[in-house]
Parts: sequence; C-alpha cells; structure tokens
Amino acid sequence: MPVPVLILVIILGAPTALIAFMAVRAALVKPHAPPEREVSDLGIDKNALAAHLAGAVQIPTVSMADETYPEKPFFDYKEYIEKTYPLFAKAAECTVVNKYSLVYRIDGSDANLKPACFLAHIDVVPAPPEGWDYPPFGGEIHDGFVYGRGAQDMKCQMIAVLDALEFTLANGGGLKRAAYCCFGHDEELSTLDGAPEIVKYLDSLNVRPEYVLDEGGVMLDGGPLGVDGTLALIGVCEKGYMDVRLSRKKAGGHASTPAKPTALASVAKAVCNVERKQLPPVWTAPTIELIRELAPYMKPLFKFVMVNRDVLSPFIKFALSKLHPISAALVKTTFAPTMAKGSDAANVLPPYAEAVVNCRLIAGNSPETVLAHIKKVAGRGIDVEVINRAVPASKISPADTPSYVKIADAVRTAFPGVKVAPYMFIAATDSRFYYPICDNVYRFSPFAYTEDDQRRIHAVNERCNIDDLKKATEFFVRIIGDTCL
Ligand SMILES: [Zn+2]
Repeated sequence: MPVPVLILVIILGAPTALIAFMAVRAALVKPHAPPEREVSDLGIDKNALAAHLAGAVQIPTVSMADETYPEKPFFDYKEYIEKTYPLFAKAAECTVVNKYSLVYRIDGSDANLKPACFLAHIDVVPAPPEGWDYPPFGGEIHDGFVYGRGAQDMKCQMIAVLDALEFTLANGGGLKRAAYCCFGHDEELSTLDGAPEIVKYLDSLNVRPEYVLDEGGVMLDGGPLGVDGTLALIGVCEKGYMDVRLSRKKAGGHASTPAKPTALASVAKAVCNVERKQLPPVWTAPTIELIRELAPYMKPLFKFVMVNRDVLSPFIKFALSKLHPISAALVKTTFAPTMAKGSDAANVLPPYAEAVVNCRLIAGNSPETVLAHIKKVAGRGIDVEVINRAVPASKISPADTPSYVKIADAVRTAFPGVKVAPYMFIAATDSRFYYPICDNVYRFSPFAYTEDDQRRIHAVNERCNIDDLKKATEFFVRIIGDTCL
C-alpha cells in the first residue's frame, strides 16, 4: 500500500474503530436492577394517616429566626407523638436532647446488629397566614390533601416513619434490629442545637448505626438526563453551603453627578463576574455512579455519550453544566446571587453597596477554594467575606452497602417503574452531622412531588397528597421489614 494511502487509512481508520468500539460498548450496557417484587396491599388506612399528619401540622413548631423557640408547641408535639402512637410510645424509650430534640430508641432482640436510625426534624419555617387558602396551622384536609406548614417539610415523613413503626409493632411484635428515631428541632435554622447534640448524645452511648435515613433525595422527571419516566435519587452525600457577601464603599452624594462606577455598579459587575466565571465542573463519585446506573435506560445518543464517559469526559462535563440547572448542579459548585442593597432613595448615590451570593459547594471544592475563586473573579476594590458559617460538602456514603441496596429495593417496590440511582443531594439536611458515628448516611423523601407541590415547600399552601403519604408509609414499613425484622 502506498505510504499516503496508509496514512489516510490510519487517520480515518483509528477514529472509525474508536467510534465502533464506543458504539459496541454502549450496546452491551443492559439494565441490572433486580426484578420488581410482587407486593400485596398492606391494608394501611390512609384516612388515619391523614388525620395523624393533620394533627401534627396543627402544632406550630416554628423555629424562629432569632433562635428562640415557642416552648409549648415543642412540648405538645412530644405529647402528641406519644398519644397518637401508643405501641410506639410503649416500646420506645425517649430521651430529650437539648430541651426540644427527641431521640426514641426501640430495642432489638439481636444485640449484635447495629441499629437503624430514622431522622426527621420537628421544626418548620414560619407561615404568616397571608396568601394561604386554608389556615397554615389548621391541618385542614381538602381534595385529598392535608394542608399546612410542615405538611411536606417534613412532618409527612416523620408521620410515615412513626405510622410504619406502629404498624410493624401491631403486626408481629418486636424488632430484631434496634431502631432509633432522631427528631431534631432546629434544622430550618441550620444552627447546632439539634442534630449535632443528638449525635454527641448517641456517640456518648457508643451508638454506631448500621444506616441513617433522612429527608432529601428526590423523585423527578428523567428527561434532563435522557431517561424516560421517573428517577428516584437516593442522596449519598450532600453539597456544602456558603453565603458570600460582596461589598464596596465609595463616596455617596447626589445622583445627578455620579462618579463612575458607583459602589452599586461595582458590586453589580462583581456579581456578574461571579455568575459568569465559575469553577470548572468536576466528577464526583456519586455522579459517576448515577451515570453508571442510569445509562442503560438512557436514549441512544445519551447512552452512547454517557457509557463512554472516560473518552468523552470533558465534553460531558461541559454539556451537563449547560444542559439544565439540575444537571449543572450535579457537576458544579453553583453560585446564586440572592440579595442586593444600595441606597435607600432613588436619587441618592449609595456610600456602600453589597450583594450576597449563595454558594452550594460540590465535593472537591472546599470553602477556602470557593472563597479564593470569588475573590479572584470579583474584581479590584470589592470586599469579599463569608457570612454565617461555611459548611463543606459532606463525606460520601457508599452505594453498594446492604442497607443502600435494601433502601433502593424498597423504593422500587413502593414506586414501581422508577429508576433508582445514588446522587449528590444538592441541599442540606441534618443527616450530614451523623458521619462521625455512621458511614452509611442516606437521604430519601419517598414522596413523588409534582413541580406544583415542590413550589409549595417553605411557601404558601404547602400540602401533602394523602395517597402519597400512604405510599411513603408503605415504603418505611418495607424498609423496617427488610432491615429490622
Ligand atoms: Zn426539611
């Protein structure tokens, strides 16, 4: 073969062979989820669940921004739990931690098994009555929904756990594996009085849970990731959190004679820079796992690309970071400008202007790295400081432990047809405090919220679908059955 032809064959042949190899590799990837289980109706009365949740919502356990608590509702709430779930109250020993947080322990018959640990938070965000169709602490039931603050975040999950335990105790007696219910009181404030104190208490008893299961983790449409149907994502870690203030001082004065740029314009430019010049996307173990789990279900082009992640890595990272806010959040630290302040009058130049950027830190980007990046891109003359406490991304829990496998299986059973995968939860929960006593910390909210439902969390007309509450309770019955009996 003449040399030029040989070179042409090599030039054209190598990419062709590579593409063929990649296509074959994609074709060979098959779903590996276990077959769905046949399930019988557990016979749980959804109206009773709705009444339990309505009663919980009627107790206004609001954690206040000034970190003071209206005491009575928190004390009433404990009483309510113990009155509503008599078998649970009889079987569980309660320890009150730091005045308002509750730790319940139900003993297991096998002391060699490490306990299971179910988390929920008692507190809710405030709910001024304006804009609500029904009173926010009325717990009213309309059209198959329980309305009120906490109906979604997260008394629904707590009620589902408690009803599942009550159901289990009523249908067969005791647990083999001990179970803890750890209910913190300050999750919405992100202060350190609830979950961290509970963990200190558990640590003092040398409690080392087999697994921890908290809120977080979602069911969402698979479209942005090229998968038809619903994804159920189990959080195996969570992003960090940091609020950064960008500010500038400059002479104020009358707005008719501005010296350019004004303090506010400088800050505005800095904010634009932070939004535009972001840290490069990174692969984290949970996102790689997510892709591996979901690739078999993806549409052909998505599948081809994702299965060949090792070859196409830079392209995929770039595409994910641009495709959709959800996919972007999986590969990047996100920067969300949320607050801004200039002068108090339209015709007065501000002597001081500031803006706040809320940052959600991906594993691998430490608070120090992110702060240094913001300082670099904000521009000259801008003061940059962290306000509040910076929280780094959590440790990553493995997605191949027996407890993860059983949680994933219970999700598939409760929600037939969903595709289950591990992922990095993009908000913050109490569960991050549990890593010192447990490696297997998982987050899943077994509620298939519609987009409309999601918009109601921390907003007006928060509500929980009663059918969803029943499914969530069944999910916890199965988890308890699979791991604690
Ligand atoms: Zn919550």
